Amino acid sequence: MRIIDRLQAGEPCFSFEFFPPHTEQGVDSLFGTVVELAPLNPGYVSCTYPGSATPTPDTEIARRRKLTIDLTRRIRDESGIEAMAHLTCSAHSRDELIHILDRLAEDGADNVLALRGDPPQGGGGFVQAEGGFAHGVELIQLIRERGYPFCVGAACYPEKHQEAPDADLDLQHLKAKVDAGADFLISQLFFDNGRWFDFMAHVRAAGITVPVIPGLMPIINREGIIRMTELSGAHLPEGLRRELDGHGDDAEAVVQTGIAHTTAQALELLESGVPGIHFYTLNKSRATREIVSAVRGHQGQR
Ligand SMILES: Cc1cc2nc3c(=O)[nH]c(=O)nc-3n(C[C@H](O)[C@H](O)[C@H](O)COP(=O)(O)OP(=O)(O)OC[C@H]3O[C@@H](n4cnc5c(N)ncnc54)[C@H](O)[C@@H]3O)c2cc1C
Repeated sequence: MRIIDRLQAGEPCFSFEFFPPHTEQGVDSLFGTVVELAPLNPGYVSCTYPGSATPTPDTEIARRRKLTIDLTRRIRDESGIEAMAHLTCSAHSRDELIHILDRLAEDGADNVLALRGDPPQGGGGFVQAEGGFAHGVELIQLIRERGYPFCVGAACYPEKHQEAPDADLDLQHLKAKVDAGADFLISQLFFDNGRWFDFMAHVRAAGITVPVIPGLMPIINREGIIRMTELSGAHLPEGLRRELDGHGDDAEAVVQTGIAHTTAQALELLESGVPGIHFYTLNKSRATREIVSAVRGHQGQR
């Protein structure tokens, strides 16, 4: 199923993002999470593509990258849920990317999320592989030039990509990805809907008309979310931070605050007409299940 068709179907499309686990046990547990989330009838799930940002040996990255492709096929085959692989340019030549895209096409994939990839941890900026690409737009161009039948997603950043010197230039680069053939966009995580509404006004004013899906990360522990805001540059509203700080060691209270915050965010976004919500699940199901159930409950009451 092409994700663009699902997004245009009218019903809000809830999607769940996973990462390829590090161990066999992690793979089993991920399938447990997929089974737990399946009754929520997700529009699709997606699996990230490990990058050179992870400080692990190259062979381990290669193993987990292959797992991304294998897992998306397995999820589609075993659960019937649409599963999209992410693919990044990092550490791949153009020929290698063609090889992976061929494999996705052979597997019957209908969708791919085309990304540049993160710079390596520790600074220094993104490293373009020899014979590879410097920007996500080039991967989208490759997919279109070679006529792959995929519905293509790309990333966008409501609070600006961290490397972009300013939001206007970042928006021009985003427009280039859509002009090159991206069918829909998924956003970086954010906690402040005000930032999203400002961003979307600029997106539409720039003539970008494709569906844009907000990405939300349920807060399941305080330290984790502070690390995420540092990595992504997402603004954590002062009131939310104070509430999380006030919970001290009470892990359950943090989860409850997170669920309440993300539920309120999702409801307001859906009210504004977004085509769906993409949840960064971190391979855990509980918070996402509770949020989607609460959102559906509110919507059913209207
Ligand atoms: C929904 C989502 C899913 C993600 N999944 C993964 C994943 O699975 N694996 C992973 O490693 N990372 C993932 N990322 C992170 C992503 O790889 C990083 O944010 C990366 O730094 C940028 O990727 P991009 O495709 O947006 O890059 P690009 O679109 O290439 O943009 C990167 C930077 O380059 C600038 N730029 C773009 N084009 C040009 C140009 N022509 N000239 C000059 N500057 C330009 C942009 O303004 C931006 O600052 C994901 C991010 C999101 C939002």
